[in-house]
Amino acid sequence: MPIYKAPVEDAQFLLNDVFHVERYSNLPGFADATPDLVEAVLGEAGKFCEQVLLPLNRTGDQEGCKRAADGSVTTPTGFKDAFKQLVEGGWIGISAPPEFGGQGLPMLMTQLVNEFLSSANLSFAMYPGLTQGAIAALIAHGTDQIKAAYLPKMIAGEWTGTMNLTEPHCGTDLGLLRTKAAKQPDGSYKITGTKIFISAGEHDLAANIIHLVLARIEGAPEGTRGISLFVAPKFLLNGDGSPGARNALSCGSLEEKMGIHGNATCVMNYDGATGWLLGDENRGLHAMFTMMNEARLGVGVQGLAMSEVAYQNAVNYAKERLQGRALTGAKAKDKPADPIIVHPDVRRTLMTIKSFNEAARALVIWTAIASDLDRRGTHEKIRQAADDHMGLLTPVIKGVLTDQGFANTVLAQQMFGGHGYIAEHGMEQFVRDARITMMYEGANGIQALDLVGRKLPKDGGRALQAFFAEVQGFIKEKSADAAMKPYVEPLGKALGHLQQATMWFMANAMGKPDNAGAGSTDYMHMFGLCALGYMWARMAAAAQEKLKDKLKSGANGAEARMNAKLVTGRFFMERLLPETAAQLARITSGAASTMELAAEQF
Ligand SMILES: Cc1cc2nc3c(=O)[nH]c(=O)nc-3n(C[C@H](O)[C@H](O)[C@H](O)COP(=O)(O)OP(=O)(O)OC[C@H]3O[C@@H](n4cnc5c(N)ncnc54)[C@H](O)[C@@H]3O)c2cc1C
Repeated sequence: MPIYKAPVEDAQFLLNDVFHVERYSNLPGFADATPDLVEAVLGEAGKFCEQVLLPLNRTGDQEGCKRAADGSVTTPTGFKDAFKQLVEGGWIGISAPPEFGGQGLPMLMTQLVNEFLSSANLSFAMYPGLTQGAIAALIAHGTDQIKAAYLPKMIAGEWTGTMNLTEPHCGTDLGLLRTKAAKQPDGSYKITGTKIFISAGEHDLAANIIHLVLARIEGAPEGTRGISLFVAPKFLLNGDGSPGARNALSCGSLEEKMGIHGNATCVMNYDGATGWLLGDENRGLHAMFTMMNEARLGVGVQGLAMSEVAYQNAVNYAKERLQGRALTGAKAKDKPADPIIVHPDVRRTLMTIKSFNEAARALVIWTAIASDLDRRGTHEKIRQAADDHMGLLTPVIKGVLTDQGFANTVLAQQMFGGHGYIAEHGMEQFVRDARITMMYEGANGIQALDLVGRKLPKDGGRALQAFFAEVQGFIKEKSADAAMKPYVEPLGKALGHLQQATMWFMANAMGKPDNAGAGSTDYMHMFGLCALGYMWARMAAAAQEKLKDKLKSGANGAEARMNAKLVTGRFFMERLLPETAAQLARITSGAASTMELAAEQF
């Protein structure tokens, strides 16, 4: 059975020593997030994930969700009780506004807790995760009446939420969307159409399910400019706000799929279902985009989460599995063979995943702080800078953390040899479950295009310039520090590659957009490596500070942990970051050979 231990200490190092979150105690919710409270919250969340959710991961995979003839859906054994515990713990609303019953803690706490939930059981974590996405949309676009009707119940976890975008003929290109909405005399709408692949569309975990649905109002323009967003509950609300009559919407079938079997992926039929407009008519895509950054950040966190749990199991196995002898001579002389962790190639694999995970967690926290500053910042300038950061880094986090997160589950599976292919160890499930994160919430190729096509040129490149300035400023500040040389020198080189690639796009992609399209995925990954490299440089600086401090709190193994950080950071700089040179070469080769063959030549 797979193991999992929530990386609480690593999160605390990031919050306290790298990002010094106490600096933000003037912001709403941050003053409450004292180091003691953070430790308690993360510790409790970790325990819940390790003890309640992890044991349900494999059984959930094997059992899956079941749909009855009446369209009702049953989740796997144990999910209902676990969801009740999640609700009782108040986990869904930890960062939600207190006026609707949330705890108002910083968003970064939600991202950390969601990492733990997703590592332990991704299928389960999607139910509260989608609810948080729907809550964010209702907060941003609901009228006071809609907010009062839905938010307290959703934040408490009594009701869950969904996002209904995809239709059989359109996923990426939502301009093709056909679901219709007909305005009624009372101001409501009748929604008719079919949505597919709707996560948590129907289940038995909550008393009501609140669907957010994209549809086209009768007479609206074609394309993306004619799409509106609606809220349509499974049960219409009685006068007292309790769930009443069944709305005209139902789960037509469940998708049979590769992984996340414990999450119900539904075909949803809307047969004149009653819904209410959220935001302005024909501005539905805009409304979705306002909450897209956090939703995509959340999926990036899922990629990290899968990489982390797969890594922990690979390490565990590598310490136990005895095969061969170390190249430098036997290490476990009392045993018939050495544990495979002695082999450099096994080490290379484990270090690759470890050095990615720790930097990815830092990148998530850095960006989650930006999402908090965006919402809670005291000055317009701070909010704008935070918004720029979110916009720029979100496609990078979604694309890179899920591409590499999946790749890392495969690397971790490889550590098990043939046993990784056998269901018992759980590694093949991690691979299957992680795969979807690269596809939903915008396939990763689309994240790369969003970065290159929209985010780089936005506001005259303001966000990109701010990123370059911050990283360059850090490199300059540390340039005289010999101990930081192994970190800032490679970072400077990689940043130079990123700047060259950016310039190359400016010179070669305006007139020939295929040059940007053909280089976009490489550029996204190059950006990701630079951002992760910057995180490593900051973590190395923090670790060195802590070591210099003579580790006043050193009795608990902090010294060994900080030394391990420095080594892991060096590995990243030496072994992963140099990939930016190859990426630059690919990008600047342009689109010619990619585009030359006619479609029939494939
Ligand atoms: C398990 C699961 C759960 C899901 N949950 C939800 C949910 O809760 N709600 C919801 O609304 N949807 C959900 N989805 C749908 C998901 O978001 C879409 O599948 C995804 O956005 C991609 O759309 P598509 O499948 O139609 O692929 P397509 O849009 O057909 O894309 C196919 C391929 O072409 C590429 N491509 C498309 N257009 C371009 C372009 N212009 N340039 C370059 N490349 C391009 C894409 O990157 C992709 O690789 C879910 C899907 C799955 C499988």
